[in-house]
Formats: sequence, C-alpha cells, structure tokens
Amino acid sequence: MSPLDRTPLDLAIAHGRRFVAEQSTRSVAPTGTRADILAPMPAALPATGMDPAAVVDLIARAAEPGLMGNLSGRFFAWVKGGALPAAHATDVMASLWDQNAVLAATSPASAVLEEVAGRLLLDALHLPETCAYSFTTGCQMSHATALAAARNHVLAKAGWDVEVDGLIGAPPLMVLANAHRHSSVDRALRLLGLGTGCIVPLGGGGPGKVGVDELVAALAAAQGAPTIVILNAGDLNLGASDDFARLVPIAQAAGAWVHVDGAFGLWLNACPSLRHQVAGIELCDSWATDGHKWLNTPYNAGMAITRHDAALKASMRMTASYLTEGGETRDPMDYTPEWSRRARALPTLAALLELGRDGLADLIARCCAHALAIHDGIVALDGATSIARPIMNQGMIRFHDRAGANISDAVIAAINASGEAFFSGTTWASERTMRISVCNWQTNADDVRRTVAAAERALAGLR
Ligand SMILES: *Cc1c(COP(=O)(O)O)cnc(C)c1O
Repeated sequence: MSPLDRTPLDLAIAHGRRFVAEQSTRSVAPTGTRADILAPMPAALPATGMDPAAVVDLIARAAEPGLMGNLSGRFFAWVKGGALPAAHATDVMASLWDQNAVLAATSPASAVLEEVAGRLLLDALHLPETCAYSFTTGCQMSHATALAAARNHVLAKAGWDVEVDGLIGAPPLMVLANAHRHSSVDRALRLLGLGTGCIVPLGGGGPGKVGVDELVAALAAAQGAPTIVILNAGDLNLGASDDFARLVPIAQAAGAWVHVDGAFGLWLNACPSLRHQVAGIELCDSWATDGHKWLNTPYNAGMAITRHDAALKASMRMTASYLTEGGETRDPMDYTPEWSRRARALPTLAALLELGRDGLADLIARCCAHALAIHDGIVALDGATSIARPIMNQGMIRFHDRAGANISDAVIAAINASGEAFFSGTTWASERTMRISVCNWQTNADDVRRTVAAAERALAGLR
C-alpha cells in the first residue's frame, strides 16, 4: 500500500506512534540542522493545494531531523517531563474531537470533565477543595491569571476597581518576590501593567529563600499599600522552597496576597516523603503550576488555583448577549484569559486517573531518587564537582579540565552529541554549570546507568 492510500489521520498517527516507540533507541538530541528541516519545504505558498496525505507526510519528513527527545527517560534539560500513556492518548483524542471548551453550552463533555479534573487536581495537591481553578496554556499564563486575580483583590481592598478603572491613577502596588524567581513572573507582571519596577527582591533567608526578617521589614515599609508576595516552591537551580508555614501568615496578617510559583515544586505536596519541603503551602492565596512538567501530561497543561473565587471571576469573566451560560455546569471561560480553547483539562484528568494518589507520590519520589543517583554517579568522576546535590529533582554539576579550566559547556555538548542523554547548562555563581532535571515517568535505573556512562565518556574525551 502506498502512503497515499492511507488517510491523513492514519499517517499522522503512524508517524507519531513511530516517534514514541523509538524513544529508547533514537538519539535524544535532534540529529539534523536547520537546513535539513527546511530542505523538503517549498520556498513559497504552492499555487495549488496539495493532497492532504502528502501534506502530512511532507511535514513529518521535514520535522524528523529536528525533533527533540524530550519524551525520553534520558532527557534532563530545562524542566520538561514526558507524557504518560493515558495522558498522551487522551490529548490525541481531544485533538480529534476538536471541542471548544469555552462554555458548558459549546461542549458539555469538556466543561463537565474539566470540573472533574479540577476536583481531582485539588485533591492530589492537598489544596482546599473550595478553591477556584483555571486550566491555562502553561505556568507563565497561570501567573498572569492568578496575579490578575491578586491585582483585583488587593486594589479592591484599597477601594479601587481595576477592572473598570485600570491602573492609571490607581494606588501604587508593591510586589515582594523571591529573588530567585523564574522570569515568567516578571513577564506576567509586565503583561498586567504592573511592570517589573514594582518588584522588591527578597533573598536573605538562605540559599534560594526569602527571609522572615526581611519580609517583615518590607511589609512594614509598604505601610499597608496593596501588596502581593511571590514565593517559590522548588526553584529551578537549587530546588529550594520557601518556608511557607512561617512566611505566609506574616504576609497575610499585613493584608498581602501570597502567590506561589510551583511550576513543578507544588507537586512535592503530593508526595508524603517530600511534603515537608513545602509545609504550609496550602495557606497561600494562589498557586501556579504545570501538568506538562512533573505530572507528565503533554504540553498545554498549566493550572492556576486560588482560594479567592470571586477575585478570579471578577478579573476573567465576560458577558455577551450571544453567550449561553451553563447553569449548573461551570463555564471554563469565567476562569481563564482565553475565549476559544481546546479541551485541555482532559490530559490532566487522564494523568491523575492513570497514576492515582500512590502512583503520583511514587512518580515524584522516583524522579528525586534518580536525580540524586545521576548527580552522585557523575560527581564521582574525575573533573566533576557538585554545585547543588539534589534535595528534590534538580541538581547542578561543574566540569573542569586537568588545568582547572571550566569545560562544562563542552561536556554538555559532548553528552548531547552522543545521543545517549541530553542536558542544559546555566550560569551559577558566574560559572558555567550543568543542570540536572528529572521529571520523566519513564526514567529508570538503566537510564541512570547509561547517562553516567555517557558523562564518563564525554569527560574522558575532553580531559
Ligand atoms: C517552566 C517554569 C515556568 C514557566 O512555565 P511554562 O509552563 O513554561 O509557561 C515558571 N516557573 C518555573 C519555576 C518553571 O520551571
């Protein structure tokens, strides 16, 4: 049978399935160049349209050399995550159904199942069951969503309706934020018209942490002005989490809203053996996290959660005469910045059902154990120095040649070029360093062994 005897959907599924099946054997790093990806593509819009099956084949052929192996159990760069089988398959099904999950009226299935996903999510994360939730595209948009609610709430307390009157002439708003925050927080503040100039960075509580005394001093200096405090659950480099149990009551007593960047760290709260690292996190006013990192859903799975349902609705809700609203079913658009949107809660629902409480706890604990094993295995090699031994699923290692010169970037490049494992680097204390991030449900002891062996070969070739 020639490829053109098959439907575009058959072909797309066949190409996707082959890629998923090859994860343990293909190179983790992409093997082609920009020119390889462009080569099969026409330079301009074709004058007449192509056969649909040929289009699918053409795009699959162009993409092939440029596909990143982030589904692999040996992918440790940035903070990614794989795709659990049920979540991955449900994401495909959601694409095929092509529902508009904007209102209960536009897709009852999407709206009702989003409610189930939200309920199970709060349960999994041990957050109050009365919280409002929003399924966004990612943690960046979850910050923008939750901080819009925060902006509404703290300004309303100062007698200002930001939804009607905007920020021009509004009382100044202050943001006290962990100095080691992810830059998506800054961008969310920019998108909300608050700018980055309102941020007071706090980092005096030990590595990666906000200090109690500096928070007390900063709140006193704010003199009751509308204030948002932004804390970290699991920072990107050290895996440090703030001392929520001490900091949150202090901030809330001063009238501040406390938001947490828990892109991946919030999931520690789902793991009995690691929960102590984020003790008190349930006290916060809002949380931003991702399914597409540690929960191992495919991309497009951010979540914003807040205990202030009214503030979130006030900042997001729209009414228009042509909208039909749902009655007993929650309308997703009342909680998100988007209008039309895919049924993106479904893969999260699938992941939570596939794992259950025990499976989720095991996934989190397992990734942390593998991060430690990779770190300890590599640090035992000549030329490797520990910069951050993992306390959760993140770690850092620096590499030196025999003369003491930093060769971290060269080692990362050599490991990645081997196709065996994939890492990314960062600059830490003015020095290039390799980051280790383990978020994949598939990573196992054999992946750890292969990864340490790849690092050993890379180092041997460079020292
Ligand atoms: C990845 C990440 C973000 C941004 O999340 P997206 O889903 O990429 O928008 C924010 N904060 C932290 C700590 C992250 O790791």
